[in-house]
Amino acid sequence: MSKELSDLKLERKECPKCGATWINGTHVFRGTAASYENSELDLAGLVCNKNGDHTCINPSKGKEGGQTWEYRAGYIDGAFKARKETLEELGKLDI
Ligand SMILES: [Zn+2]
Repeated sequence: MSKELSDLKLERKECPKCGATWINGTHVFRGTAASYENSELDLAGLVCNKNGDHTCINPSKGKEGGQTWEYRAGYIDGAFKARKETLEELGKLDI
């Protein structure tokens, strides 16, 4: 038996297959550390259902209903555009 875990302990799990990260049981997206309800389902639709195998630890793997690349493509295009604009703004300030 291990000692009782402190509330402050960070438990980090990474899926060996798709590289997704869970912190204290909550899935977070890499890079942004974004977390939201159903993100596991989106992850499944985006990554795990296509690329996952038995080593994938996403509990929503195999479930339908998450985002797909068809949906995501539009989102990412928008996100990249916004980021590019932000960088351009920063570039203007950094004289
Ligand atoms: Zn996975």
